[in-house]
Amino acid sequence: MLEVDDLRVELDADAGLVRAIAGLTLSLSRGETFALVGESGCGKSMTALALMRLLPENGRFAGGAVRLDGQDLLALPEGQMRDVRGGRISMIFQEPSTSLNPVMRVGDQIVEAIEAHTELRGAAARAKAVDWLKRVGIPDPQRRIDDYPFRLSGGQKQRVMIAIALAAEPEYLIADEPTTALDVTIEAQILELIRDLQRERRLGVLLITHDLAVVSGMAHRVALMYAGQIIEVAPAAEFFARPKHPYARLLLQALPDAARRGQPLAAIAGTVPPLWLEFTGCRFWPRCDKAMGHCASTLPELTEEGPQHQVRCLLYSQPGEALPRPPAVAKDLPPVPPGKCDPLLDVRDLRVRFPLNTPLFWRGAKHFDAVDGVSYQLHASRTLALVGESGCGKTTSGKAIVQLLRRQAQISGQAMFEGQDLFRLHGPALVQARRSIQIIFQDPFASLNPRMRVADVLEEGLIALRPELDAGQRRERLHALVDQVGLRRDALQRWPHEFSGGQRQRIAIARALAVEPRLIVCDEPTSALDVSVQAQILNLLRELQREQGLAYLFITHNIGVVEYIADDIAVMRAGRVVEQGPCADVLSQPRESYTKDLLGAVPRLSISSR
Ligand code: SF4
Repeated sequence: MLEVDDLRVELDADAGLVRAIAGLTLSLSRGETFALVGESGCGKSMTALALMRLLPENGRFAGGAVRLDGQDLLALPEGQMRDVRGGRISMIFQEPSTSLNPVMRVGDQIVEAIEAHTELRGAAARAKAVDWLKRVGIPDPQRRIDDYPFRLSGGQKQRVMIAIALAAEPEYLIADEPTTALDVTIEAQILELIRDLQRERRLGVLLITHDLAVVSGMAHRVALMYAGQIIEVAPAAEFFARPKHPYARLLLQALPDAARRGQPLAAIAGTVPPLWLEFTGCRFWPRCDKAMGHCASTLPELTEEGPQHQVRCLLYSQPGEALPRPPAVAKDLPPVPPGKCDPLLDVRDLRVRFPLNTPLFWRGAKHFDAVDGVSYQLHASRTLALVGESGCGKTTSGKAIVQLLRRQAQISGQAMFEGQDLFRLHGPALVQARRSIQIIFQDPFASLNPRMRVADVLEEGLIALRPELDAGQRRERLHALVDQVGLRRDALQRWPHEFSGGQRQRIAIARALAVEPRLIVCDEPTSALDVSVQAQILNLLRELQREQGLAYLFITHNIGVVEYIADDIAVMRAGRVVEQGPCADVLSQPRESYTKDLLGAVPRLSISSR
């Protein structure tokens, strides 16, 4: 058994002493999958690193123990710990591209792990590496073993990572967000592979993820972390059926899906507190919708509230009177008005062709058709979701509409917007179209200029696209914008790095709204965000649509988000739309086998007992 007992990890940071893990206790048996879930910054990944004794340079163990079959790993000499690491406990990291050595053939990386932890050497180790590649589902392993990582797809790289992690035949596997960077179909394959290997080898798996649907399909037990502590731990079926901690309940209510369509999602106000604070009460107190007066001054302990079900909440151990707090689920707005008869955007036979300068990879091909004859319509006040796997052309299609590819690609077909073909506009008409169609990108960290204050970020678009406004009118507009997206007005004088991910995405939305667009292309606007922040952004997008009649072209791979927000859907594959129609029809009765496969691969929140 792998046991963690009251583990404490501290980091020295500019802001002071950060207590990244504050008294964590858990156990993992052979053959069991134990999921550690929680939002960014709650300490999940730091826990994984601590178990492997791979703390960053500014980190140290401040107390507690990690025991493997009774042996204290924190007290082991580094030489012996190296045998445990990779030999008895292996780890898969989130991003295979950065975890594999780019200048080493994949086979050599597997052989290295085999030779370090088993008796096999030379040809025997190489034969074993081929065997592992075969077992993790890499086609033609005899040949692929000599490939460098860049020749493999994202899913294949993750499979190689799994092969390396398992090549030493460990007893325990720590999988830190193993599928977050992958498409749903590849994700399904990887999860199935981990399940198979677990059955076959009685692997104990510590699964670290923020994806509750993945957890519900994989885990036997679940621990929810918040601000460096476990706040609820229970068998998976019990956790999803009867969550007890207010944070757990809110997280589950914040998940978008078809059942919550037409209603606002639960909003968890605020953010995870910084871990350099000295806590005198419950860490969730400022955000809790069930908070009581004494929660701010009493430290809650984990208490047993059912068979194997522990909760860190005073509601159970010291109940009292609830403080008046706004409900987490707000009252809903009136329904969306039906779309007008004429589409706002009518795309016909859109083709986007990129010239290629690297014939080496494409056997002399001179171009690449990223979008190959796509047609769809979008009405005001409605949302059309473009879904499909990476590389299917959905983002390229959106960028073409926003006129971001005019210089890089040949664009043909028509995109009729308010009676004009977007691809044939020039001069003032093009400026007007740019004002009417805006885009929100996936990564709010990368899409804001770090050297511009928020006011300048927002004003830039106004100056370019609304030159008729004077400085006073622009300032008024900026105030209205930050009010609209739920930021404080002093945000205007701050820099992007001072905000959380969700706040930055609000700034990006405010930037898009600044010039009063009619249509916004939302390119994976929530995929980099935690569940609670995603709920805030989806609620905001819905409200803005209702108030202003905005149309959204919503590009995503998250089918739960599609079910929740989209009216219509177009499924793309290899540059083409393979199926489209009203969202409810396509999702409930897909006709094309590709759509069926795509939907079948999506992890669902299921609470079947495992
Ligand atoms: Fe909410 Fe109080 Fe429970 Fe903390 S202890 S989760 S503030 S009810």
